[in-house]
Amino acid sequence: MSRIAYVNGQYLPHRMAHVHIEDRGYQFADGVYEVVTVSSGKLIDEAGHLDRLWRSLGELKIAAPMKREPLKFVMREVIRRNSIFDGIIYMQVTRGVAPRDHPFPDNTAPALVMTAKRLSIPKAAKKAEEGVSVITLPDIRWARRDIKSVSLLPNILAKQEAKDKGAYEAFMVDDAGMVTEGSSTNAWIVDQDGKIITRETSNSILAGITRAALLRELEEKGLEVEIRNFSVDELQNAREVFLTSSTSYVLPVVKVDDHVIGNGHPGSISLNLRGIYQDFMTSGS
Ligand code: PMP
Repeated sequence: MSRIAYVNGQYLPHRMAHVHIEDRGYQFADGVYEVVTVSSGKLIDEAGHLDRLWRSLGELKIAAPMKREPLKFVMREVIRRNSIFDGIIYMQVTRGVAPRDHPFPDNTAPALVMTAKRLSIPKAAKKAEEGVSVITLPDIRWARRDIKSVSLLPNILAKQEAKDKGAYEAFMVDDAGMVTEGSSTNAWIVDQDGKIITRETSNSILAGITRAALLRELEEKGLEVEIRNFSVDELQNAREVFLTSSTSYVLPVVKVDDHVIGNGHPGSISLNLRGIYQDFMTSGS
């Protein structure tokens, strides 16, 4: 079956889905995006992702390509036309097509592209059972990491370095030696006293929708979380480490650089939190 993409008002087979060479997303990375998980046919945390999309657009003064309800309709149509049961939707909004010039163009409509793909649940489950490794490296990104911009060069360089070193993810570190986040994930530790710790949201990190959902679930269950910065040293010497994202859910980390975390297997707290997050996905609360 051919994959179908939504491109500026049309549903097209992927091979026919094109954008203009003067799309500002292509020329300036002048755009934002969202990735929404589809689990058992259900969109996970749709409202959170749409709120963040609107916030990113607002921060960059890009007009919304359509109102929220029609966008939700297009998302469902993309899922339906691609027969997605478990997978993701990718959507990208750019400032639109205009002759190349740095200032915002006048009277240019924003461009919207949406695609969907299936994800392998068994592969993801195996990763969670074994745990993954991460490396640390300097965070060389700009000062507005709270905006989910398509300008991802530092993130892809970090992910490639992780891949080259046989790791799953790179956790980035600010000038003060504190961990910011992963190249496409949020970072968490459990300290030797069993305290769950994750960095506060600010312009320094993306406010992960999975991070927020997990925090909500933990609060509901009366589980304590410390929201504060943590150092590379704390990370490497943590009892447990895990990461969160829409596509990784809650994923245990068993190695940081050359440091084996715990006994080298996913920790019980991380696995418990993964279970809590998966229950949330199932219940759709
Ligand atoms: N940080 C960065 C830099 C990311 O790209 C992502 C993935 N969008 C995340 C964190 C995790 O966010 P979410 O839980 O919304 O997928």
